[in-house]
Amino acid sequence: MIVIDHLHFAYPDGRLALRDVSLRIGRGETAGLVGPNGAGKSTLLLHLNGLLGLPRQAGSICVDGLMLSEESLPEVRRRVGLVFQDPDDQLFSTTVEEDVSFGPQQLDLTPGEVGARVAKALAAVQLSGFQQRIPHHLSLGEKKRVCLAGVLACQPAVLLFDEPTADFDPRGRREFIELCRSLPATKLIASHDLEMILALCTRVFVLDAGLLVASGATHEILGDEPLMLAHGLEKPHSLFHRHPHGPMPEGHH
Ligand code: ADP
Repeated sequence: MIVIDHLHFAYPDGRLALRDVSLRIGRGETAGLVGPNGAGKSTLLLHLNGLLGLPRQAGSICVDGLMLSEESLPEVRRRVGLVFQDPDDQLFSTTVEEDVSFGPQQLDLTPGEVGARVAKALAAVQLSGFQQRIPHHLSLGEKKRVCLAGVLACQPAVLLFDEPTADFDPRGRREFIELCRSLPATKLIASHDLEMILALCTRVFVLDAGLLVASGATHEILGDEPLMLAHGLEKPHSLFHRHPHGPMPEGHH
């Protein structure tokens, strides 16, 4: 579903953010993207949505069989939904309804279909009845839910999440995990919330300083303490207490 080959990218000021990154994600797979601040996680997600334009330096990106090019860019953006890290980068309307309906309105749907999608997406993020609220007046967690609803309402084949749980309280975080699990799309989740990554992702990629330094089964990668520490991360607590392949070793609680 996602094929990135030798992607090399520098921002206009010359800062190299991705170095020769190649990765593949299968259809319907949920993959995690982890790494320290500045590793290039957000840059990678923005690329997959074509928001940084075409691969400028070198490399190629193919999503759902579409090679990213000038011609395919609008179609790629229709198929790939990105939930930004900062909701204020995503919200722009005066009411929640306007914001959530913006995406589906670009999709050749009838007003009735748009309304139904908006209601369904708001219900999915526990914001039923928020249609006339002012996004600017909502709490950070509520804003993030509005952003999520706006993307879900487009029903994209690929969902990209940048730090989706950062602004949620524990219940909101659990609800996000349940919702995410129920979505059939192919998903890539960038986060420092490694317990959430562990709960949702079968596979994980580790980025550091723009380089893909490791990838593999989530339990193996996140359970590799030296690897985690070498890249500014931590082995999740739950992996100290529970062995995925058998009973707990004696002496462990
Ligand atoms: P992460 O999401 O892993 O924290 P980012 O993708 O945000 O990392 O950033 C990767 C690198 O690119 C960092 O060194 C960051 O400072 C730099 N960077 C991000 N956005 C820009 C920008 N608009 N212009 C220049 N450098 C940027």
